[in-house]
Amino acid sequence: MTKELSPATKAVALGRGDHAAGDPLNVPVALTSTYRAGGTRTYGRDGNATWEALEAVIGGLEGGDALVFASGLGAISAVIETLPVGATVVIPADAYNGTRRLLTDLAGRGRLAFRPVDIADTSAALAACGGADLLWIESPTNPLMAIADIGALVAGGHEAGALVAVDNTFATPLLQRPLELGADVVVHSVTKLLAGHSDVVMGAVVTASQDLLDAFRRRRSLHGAIPGPMEAFLALRGLRTLDVRLERAQANAAELASRLVSHPEVERVRYPGLSDDPGHSLAAKQMAGFGAMLSVEVRGGAEPAEAVCGRVRLLVPATSLGGVETMIERRGRWEGEQYLPPGLLRISVGLENIEDLWSDLDQALLGGS
Ligand SMILES: *Cc1c(COP(=O)(O)O)cnc(C)c1O
Repeated sequence: MTKELSPATKAVALGRGDHAAGDPLNVPVALTSTYRAGGTRTYGRDGNATWEALEAVIGGLEGGDALVFASGLGAISAVIETLPVGATVVIPADAYNGTRRLLTDLAGRGRLAFRPVDIADTSAALAACGGADLLWIESPTNPLMAIADIGALVAGGHEAGALVAVDNTFATPLLQRPLELGADVVVHSVTKLLAGHSDVVMGAVVTASQDLLDAFRRRRSLHGAIPGPMEAFLALRGLRTLDVRLERAQANAAELASRLVSHPEVERVRYPGLSDDPGHSLAAKQMAGFGAMLSVEVRGGAEPAEAVCGRVRLLVPATSLGGVETMIERRGRWEGEQYLPPGLLRISVGLENIEDLWSDLDQALLGGS
């Protein structure tokens, strides 16, 4: 095949081995802790055939080489750990809560320093990059749905001498591919949309640089933050259908966002697909779709917002995102999330019928009024 496959096809077709007659169609679950001596694989902490199939798909989709880890935060830790002692990291002030808590913990012990910035404000973010070792980008951000100008930040970050990493969990490689925009590293919480069925916790790092790949692989072997082969199999099975899942979830999210805008109990909807969203025009340029995540601010703050989560019957009140089922939670209930509007509900939109979703959400919003 000479023509580059489309991302939807890559998700289905990559990672299937040599296609020799009689081979299994799917990669087997390689349940082994070690390998007979003399081959390329040596020990189960260093390599596994089921990981490699999943890595071939994630790497192929992002346009680099992927390594899977025990969790998204395990993958993020591997990237952070390759920085020198005393390094400076620039991160979105509204980055994923776990990333901020990790950096806060490391800064508290003198391992590194970090500078929080408004990542949607490109010039302010780049002004903070002087002397920085790493610029960390998230877009859309979790859960404020801010859009960062990845291309401009990559160019400016590199000019300042920083490595640039992008947490691509919310967008997935079907909607944006940061390595093509010049980023050095992409990380994923595979737990979310890539695996897509709320049944595994896993992460991935992707890079096109051999040196970085070697450094991250060393981190994985030395830290031992490795996924189980069964989990890798499940994640790969989920990833095969990413394109169709995302298509439905996005369509549902767009419809919910447009209906929620005029709901009497809703103060504000944050979804880059809305034409008056602050990130809309940049997202339209940078992404192939607006994604399946949205946030709503409920009138009256924390208490009515919690009440909505208590009244839903179909939507699942739970943390996490990217599964087939729609999930809702008030993010401000978590440590480190008190900076958020107290009535902000993050909704991870799933694959249910839109009218079923709407009637449940509508009754839950109206229930207390
Ligand atoms: C969930 C999440 C992570 C962390 O991934 P885990 O698999 O939970 O360790 C990192 N970044 C973003 C944007 C996330 O949503």
